[in-house]
Amino acid sequence: MENYNDLSKNNLENPMNLTPEQKKNKQLAEHLFPEELLSIESIFERYPKRELPKDAMVTRIAPSPTGFMHIGGIYMALISERFARQTNGVYYLRIEDTDKKREIEGARKIITESLHEFGLDPDEGENIDGVERGIYGPYKQSERKDIYKSFIKHLVEMGRAYPCFCSEEEIETMRTMQEELKVRPGYYGIWAKYRDADEKNVEEMLKQNKSYVIRFKSLGNNTNTFIHNDIIKGPLELPENDLDVVIMKSDGLPTYHLAHVVDDHLMGTTHVLRGDEWVSSVSLHYELFKALDFERPEYGHIAPINKIDESGGKRKLSKRKDPEATVSFYEKNGYPEIAVIEYLTNLANSDFEDWRKSNPDKPYTEFQLSFKRLSASAGPLFDKIKLHDIAKEIIVKMRAEELYKKVLDWSLKYDPKFWGILREDPEYWIKVFSIERGGSKPRKDIAMWSEVKEAFPFFIKEKFIKPDWSNFISMLSYDEIKNIINQYNEVFSFDDPAEKWMEKIKQIAAILGFAPDTKRFKKNRDSYRGHVGEIAQIIRFAITGRTQTPDLYQIMQVLGEQECKKRLTLK
Ligand code: GLU
Repeated sequence: MENYNDLSKNNLENPMNLTPEQKKNKQLAEHLFPEELLSIESIFERYPKRELPKDAMVTRIAPSPTGFMHIGGIYMALISERFARQTNGVYYLRIEDTDKKREIEGARKIITESLHEFGLDPDEGENIDGVERGIYGPYKQSERKDIYKSFIKHLVEMGRAYPCFCSEEEIETMRTMQEELKVRPGYYGIWAKYRDADEKNVEEMLKQNKSYVIRFKSLGNNTNTFIHNDIIKGPLELPENDLDVVIMKSDGLPTYHLAHVVDDHLMGTTHVLRGDEWVSSVSLHYELFKALDFERPEYGHIAPINKIDESGGKRKLSKRKDPEATVSFYEKNGYPEIAVIEYLTNLANSDFEDWRKSNPDKPYTEFQLSFKRLSASAGPLFDKIKLHDIAKEIIVKMRAEELYKKVLDWSLKYDPKFWGILREDPEYWIKVFSIERGGSKPRKDIAMWSEVKEAFPFFIKEKFIKPDWSNFISMLSYDEIKNIINQYNEVFSFDDPAEKWMEKIKQIAAILGFAPDTKRFKKNRDSYRGHVGEIAQIIRFAITGRTQTPDLYQIMQVLGEQECKKRLTLK
């Protein structure tokens, strides 16, 4: 009886115990993989079960190095990282570089740098320093070729995988025929040409060195369904897989399907959180896990970030059409990384917004992300205004020194001229950034570092050009304006405290027949030419070239006496 059990569990060690079928499969496996491969047992020994607290989640992100980072990749990394950290688990990075055609030089660096920038360095896998951490590696699939081969060979031995010699043209012809016949596309049932190929035939083709792939032999029935309980999407009724999909390509590298199952098993992933384009592969993955006798992880399929497009419809953020789809967009514009992260947290769980309001000073990491609140079907909508609001809230809380440092770092890369100006006089710029910072009503006008120069051009003394008064809308003539500015310049004293400074403007207003405040003006419009605000506005325009600025007194204090006097001289 024991012997029987062993046999049924594919004990292929002792050739004496093999059925003719098993013998045939073993021979085929040897033929396909004559090289010395690692035994399955030795692989399992290399990947011990993780010892973690009971509900700890092991999550990962598994990007392919295709040369750019989609903001959706950061969104998924954030979700994976949060769940792992919230449960004292592990979040790791696996580079899925088995598709050599799509790989781009330097792409791994883009991945590790982007993760680093957003505070999402993995616990295991390659880090920003190029060094891999963790004992479950290698974390780069191209370095795991032999491991996959051992498992593929194992599947062949068990009669669950076989070589397929179809050329691309043959597959194409099959597809066209299926289309014409209006049947389900794919390599299954009667379409699976090499599934039960004659042994001799196969041997002959191998002898001739014909190129082949290895396909999984599915035992599923497409008319049967089963329930997949997705931790994000909930229960889904799916048809069983019956496709004999390719698990090893002709270059000897595995396809995503095989590599996913082997890696997530060996690396101890408890929760596979990935894009929902993979839902349609779940049946296949269930079958692969079963065929390899691996315990299946939980799956959570994340809906992609959407946007409202030009025609008013909803669609996925596209790297081709939408600049905001790539991480470099956020860098170039200079959004604080933490603002992007908080925004993405809010896209994941929209109750983050309320939490943030009630916990303005806590780090976002204290917010508990929940699977239930992730959108199950339609993905969340990208909304730049919301992102800006979050960014402004974050920037407004920064101290001037911190803001200075951020803008300096950003401009080194994206605006070197401005960098030179900022670096020359840190003290001056910190004073600039201190204007209306802190206090009960701080100014919330900046959402990204690229807006800083635009918000304060009048502080760049060497670049300041005397304003063009033809742009200044006023009932007063230029001569009168000139007169006001010259009069003010005479009484202006840099050492005046704020009240006295205001008093002097009011005095000029009174002399010229303007009301000292709006209240009095409104009560008695006929007795005045206007009110003091209009006089202050003229001074503001002379000093800054703008009609809207932060507090003028503070601006003048930062600019200094000499500069103010210079700007108050009109010819
Ligand atoms: N390399 C796959 C992709 O980029 C990863 C999917 C997964 O997370 O399993 O889509």
